[in-house]
Parts: sequence; structure tokens; C-alpha cells
Amino acid sequence: MTDGPILLIEDNPLNMELAGEILRQAGLTVLEAVTARERLRLAVEARPALVLLDIQLPDLDGLEAVRRLRADPRTAGIPVVALTAQAMKGDEGAARAAGCDGYIAKPIDTRRFAADVLAYLQAPGGRDHVARP
Ligand code: MN
Repeated sequence: MTDGPILLIEDNPLNMELAGEILRQAGLTVLEAVTARERLRLAVEARPALVLLDIQLPDLDGLEAVRRLRADPRTAGIPVVALTAQAMKGDEGAARAAGCDGYIAKPIDTRRFAADVLAYLQAPGGRDHVARP
């Protein structure tokens, strides 16, 4: 497994609390970010093992955020998993086209969320692993 924290980017406080708590109970270190400024700073400085990114953010389109992470050599190699309430056909394709390694639909399934995140962390190469939405 890759070392480093999970960077959880989510603007909904309840979703942030729930996802963060599940991951912490699974033994993971979680960094939480809401704004674009925090997001960029943490993604660069904290060297996260994985970014969980809400696609619907108030200050920056989530897919654009993925493209920016991918375009920056300092963050281009970090796996990014999209979190979205838009559980519709085509969203996973859009997320992957923007550079996401996978997709977890919201509301998250509390029984499997931690396992899905761990699977992304443990998948060799990361990007070959696809979560079941
Ligand atoms: Mn949101």
C-alpha cells in the first residue's frame, strides 16, 4: 500500500464527516479540504496516497480540478477517485476522461466504502482498478 494520507475534497459537511469517519476507523489518515486553495496546497504539499474528489464543488468544477491535478507534474501521479451524487450512466466515463482513476457513487455505501478506498490504494498501478459504482 502506498504511504501517505487520503485527501478528501468535499464541500458537504455531512458527507465529509461520514466519509472521513469511516476512513479514520479503517486506520487511514485523512486530510480534509473544501476550497480550491486548500485543495491545491494539500495536493502538492501533503503528498497524498489518494485523492477522493467530490465532482460537485461550489468554487471549481470537479472535473476541471482533476485536469489541473493531472496537468501539474507535482500531482500528476496521484490516484484520483471521483465522488459524485450524479449516479448516472456516463458520469464514470466523464470522470475517467478527465483523468480520474475510478468512481464511487454518493450517497456512499457505508458497508463497503472503506474497502473500496483500500482497494484503490492497494491496486497495482491504481488506474487499472475500477470501483463498482
Ligand atoms: Mn459537492
